[in-house]
Amino acid sequence: MKKLLAALLAVCFCGLAGCAKKAEYKVELYAMDTVMTLSAYGGQDAKNALADAAAEIMRLDNLFSASRADGEISRLNAAEGAAVEVSQDTAQVIAAAKAYTQLTDGAFDITIYPLVNAWGFVSKNYTVPDEKTVASLLRTTGANNIDLSGQTVVLKKGAQIGLGAIAKGYASDRVAELLRGSGLKSALVVLGGNVYAIGAHTDGSPWRIGIADPLDSVHSAAMLTVVDAAVVTSGGYHRYFVQDGVTYQHILDPRTGRPADNGLISVTIVSPSGTQADALSTALYVMGEKKALAYHKANPNFDYILITDDYRILVSAGLEDAFTLINTEYELCVID
Ligand code: AMP
Ligand code: MG
Repeated sequence: MKKLLAALLAVCFCGLAGCAKKAEYKVELYAMDTVMTLSAYGGQDAKNALADAAAEIMRLDNLFSASRADGEISRLNAAEGAAVEVSQDTAQVIAAAKAYTQLTDGAFDITIYPLVNAWGFVSKNYTVPDEKTVASLLRTTGANNIDLSGQTVVLKKGAQIGLGAIAKGYASDRVAELLRGSGLKSALVVLGGNVYAIGAHTDGSPWRIGIADPLDSVHSAAMLTVVDAAVVTSGGYHRYFVQDGVTYQHILDPRTGRPADNGLISVTIVSPSGTQADALSTALYVMGEKKALAYHKANPNFDYILITDDYRILVSAGLEDAFTLINTEYELCVID
């Protein structure tokens, strides 16, 4: 309740160019564990649409939260094998998550949640779990622990899910749908590391999105121009802790139950689908360079920017014209 109140209080409107015909309106809110900014150009219609979009995000946050007792995911996680009726949104995200688990050969897996919890990434009381705990929790992971039929979900006893790697992408799709449905032609939806660009700037120039530099918290590593697309970045640098000189980051490899450590330090996916971009940014991070490139060859319906731990930036050919390298310490490789 306190959190919801804080989120509501943080919603504020700023008409940035009040008397111009197409003012820029901005809404800021805190939801899904991150700061979000929604901006749109237009008149009163833009202002109203942004208010609706903020309300929609809060509604989804309530449904998808695994820590809020009245959320649907919390109810599912507490059901101990019983069937739970969920909303259409929750059923849709779970269906998408299951599909991506299959497509990515298990690299993306929402049933990894008990391990995310065991490492302290939920409570932020970070700890390295012992091998026995990891092995025991891994026994109830895998998409076969989720049975989804229409809007009825059964999680096998012991299994729990967390939507942290896909919820913001799904929310960005819903918000984009809502804003476009309100007739808006120019808007930018920034949900933490999940960005959704609607149309272009009002003068027709594309949106410019900075790609964060995992090695420099102030400057961007690169700049990307986009029109009508989601741009989603996963990176270990977003959340991690250090114990005995070892860094442990929050994206887990479902095969080991331990932080993924496969040579990538940042993965950005560009796609018209925020849900796809969110699921794949997490999955390709887990896969590492070789498997990620092979995945793209087999499923070329998106673009990527991969940053490796040996200072290379791999960019899919579809982004070549849109991409500008800023930190020239990285070696740029465009991949056909
Ligand atoms: P993202 O920032 O979208 O890559 O999501 C990372 C978050 O998703 C983590 O903080 C965990 O809550 C959860 N997570 C970690 N590893 C995985 C994984 N392999 N598949 C699905 N969710 C994960
Ligand atoms: Mg993700």
